[in-house]
Amino acid sequence: MTMQRAWRLRSRPDGEISDSDLELVENPLPDLQDGEILVEVSYISMDPTNRIWMSDEEQYMPPVAIGDIMRAGVAGTVKESRNSNFEVGALVAGLGGYASHIVADGSVFGPLPDVPGLSLPKLFGSLGGTALTAYFGLLKIGDPKPGETVVVSAAAGAVGSIVGQIAKLKGCRVVGIAGGPDKCSYVVDELGFDACVDYKNGSVREQLDAYCPDGIDINFENVGGDIMQAVMERMNTFSRMALCGMISEYDALDQITGPKAWPRILMSRIKVQGFIVSDYMDEFGAAMEELIPWALEGKIKTREDVRQGLDNALDVVRDLYKGGNQGKLLLKV
Ligand code: NDP
Repeated sequence: MTMQRAWRLRSRPDGEISDSDLELVENPLPDLQDGEILVEVSYISMDPTNRIWMSDEEQYMPPVAIGDIMRAGVAGTVKESRNSNFEVGALVAGLGGYASHIVADGSVFGPLPDVPGLSLPKLFGSLGGTALTAYFGLLKIGDPKPGETVVVSAAAGAVGSIVGQIAKLKGCRVVGIAGGPDKCSYVVDELGFDACVDYKNGSVREQLDAYCPDGIDINFENVGGDIMQAVMERMNTFSRMALCGMISEYDALDQITGPKAWPRILMSRIKVQGFIVSDYMDEFGAAMEELIPWALEGKIKTREDVRQGLDNALDVVRDLYKGGNQGKLLLKV
């Protein structure tokens, strides 16, 4: 019999995730039913959206129910299978949870290819949903053209770092926004952005004015709040904004009062579109055919921040909302 260790949601966080909101419990797993697989989890993707799933705010998936295992993307190995599409020993990724093992029907898991030269954290963490989010948000909604100015917030993070590098490949001038000198120098010196606003040091508005003298053509928005407001105040006529995330506001989604930029959207005819990466699922395969060679050739660089131990899940996920992560945040079980 397999024992499962899993974090279950006990209460919906009020503000920051607190220790008492989730509980780590150990239970024996029942025998598999027809169609099910048992996955031994090796990596959990720690994502800003985890905080949204813990809330009961209106969202793009059902909230995690109280008492259920906390939902998360996972990668792991099939240990038992009663589904003919999955062989024991296969490497898979899909929608699982903060858990050592997941029992699932085959529909929420798929095979993970073995790509020589790309480690599992890179392939599953940075180049899976993360790179696809950057790719579709920038190319489909941002619609970048050579010479345009692109601003991306949370620029040193998993999604933002790839957005900026793809925008450079498309011939754009790219300005990141990140917290602190180390993250800003990573973005400029290692990833090749043209400039980076350090929102923790000095005025965001003054730095944007200095780095975007011709205004902003594309805003890839990851953060929300006053940073989003400052960027929108500088967007050009017929500019585009891909609304990917609003991490600064996830702890209090019910208290958002903005954006205050509606007149600007009207006067400058800004196209603002929210999106969820799964909107483009039919095109994932084609996108990966571009993204994987870019990664192998070093045209897009990624870094993974791999933490250890299921017991530490809450401290690890909380780091996302404080900027404690250096790249794609993963938990090795
Ligand atoms: P990151 O690796 O970018 O980590 C989050 C980063 O956000 C932190 O490192 C921190 O960077 C920044 N941040 C946190 N709190 C604040 C704050 N109050 N103000 C400003 N910056 C803050 O995470 P991801 O790349 O996984 O996610 C980035 C965004 O993309 C999130 O908003 C997420 O919800 C969204 N997303 C959307 C998807 C979609 O389908 N629409 C799919 C995947 C992600 P710093 O140190 O620079 O402050």
